Amino acid sequence: MVWTSEGDVWRLRLRLDAGEELTGTVTDAHRVELSTDTCHVRLPAGSPSGPQAVHPDLLALAAWTVAAPWTRRRVVFDRPISAELAAAFESGWGIDAGPVGEGERPAGARLAISYSGGADSAAVAAMLPDAPLVHFRRVSHPRVPNRWTHYRSDVLAALAEQTGRDVTPVESDLEFLLRHPRPGYPEHHAVMIGVILLAGARDFGGVALGYEIGSRWLGGGRYVHRYTPDNPMWSGHGPWGRLFAAAGLPLVLPVGGISEAMTMRYALGSELRDQVRWCLRGDNAGPCGRCGKCLYKELIQAAVERRPMRTTITADRPVARKWQQPPPYGGQEMIEYGCAHVPGIEDTPFARAAQYLQATPGSTAWLERCYPPAVEEIPVPWRDTIASIMAREFGFMDAGDVKRVESWGGR
Ligand SMILES: [Zn+2]
Repeated sequence: MVWTSEGDVWRLRLRLDAGEELTGTVTDAHRVELSTDTCHVRLPAGSPSGPQAVHPDLLALAAWTVAAPWTRRRVVFDRPISAELAAAFESGWGIDAGPVGEGERPAGARLAISYSGGADSAAVAAMLPDAPLVHFRRVSHPRVPNRWTHYRSDVLAALAEQTGRDVTPVESDLEFLLRHPRPGYPEHHAVMIGVILLAGARDFGGVALGYEIGSRWLGGGRYVHRYTPDNPMWSGHGPWGRLFAAAGLPLVLPVGGISEAMTMRYALGSELRDQVRWCLRGDNAGPCGRCGKCLYKELIQAAVERRPMRTTITADRPVARKWQQPPPYGGQEMIEYGCAHVPGIEDTPFARAAQYLQATPGSTAWLERCYPPAVEEIPVPWRDTIASIMAREFGFMDAGDVKRVESWGGR
């Protein structure tokens, strides 16, 4: 893998070994197909440039967030990495990474936030008012046509800017490396590519993300309905957690112990309220109100606000189809919470799901408190700060709640 830089632009070229195929597998087991072999990352003006400007472990980590799905047995970087990073490749993936010969990257002191502008990352930003935000913005690829023009990354970038915080925008076309299923991050971790490349210059010693209890502990996202203490993407002791730590940039999940309903309640109660945007399609006037994400998040918001849903989407629409089927569902804990708390759920696209789930305020009360092991997983420099916010805003789960988490998806 070769990095070159010119001014503020860093370019990455991948070359597959014999035996490696265009079809790859993401850490979450999703299948992806490679469309092209180069991508670029544009850092803000005045950022580090040139071969000596970024520690080789950071360059290797950044490249790995892009190349991991297609790499089978070995990876060769264009400059030596540390023995510590090579050991993390070996223990995490069984990958022979090298050459080895650089010293370890000294850990930085500051916590950066990988900020998307959705409710989860806005909650993290509101909890850590002094932490700088780094916002990943998709731009088009010179050789791959963009058939996804409805994705308004320009709107999301403008909203991030409007927070008034220390925001660093980073532009990249790396999502267009995926031909199948659609443009997107090769690994979920690629969203942090800008944080990684800037870590040395900005003294970053950790990167905070908005992954909440569903994504971290309940098998959320593409996983469904399973307790996941060893989540390979986000656990501190998983392959990614150890690789980031080896590069002096441990992953930090400040809201890993609370549910999406709680991150939404916190974000919408914060000074970032007007900049929160989970819809990727809406324009400057607001969210689109028609996509699947808008429907799902409206259920959660209505539940948080204990009011009927405001939506024109009906059960026969394609975006509502999955809620007419029996569970399990992705994000099922939030469907249960929504069905338990939204008045008139029987008149919404979630009526069938509510019948299947039979959730009540009592059966979903655990989703309003914090799961203690999530705080224990936060690296020491930031743990006490997060622990006191969790105690003050949500309270911690008792033994019965903890059992709910740890038996999630069981029979
Ligand atoms: Zn929408």
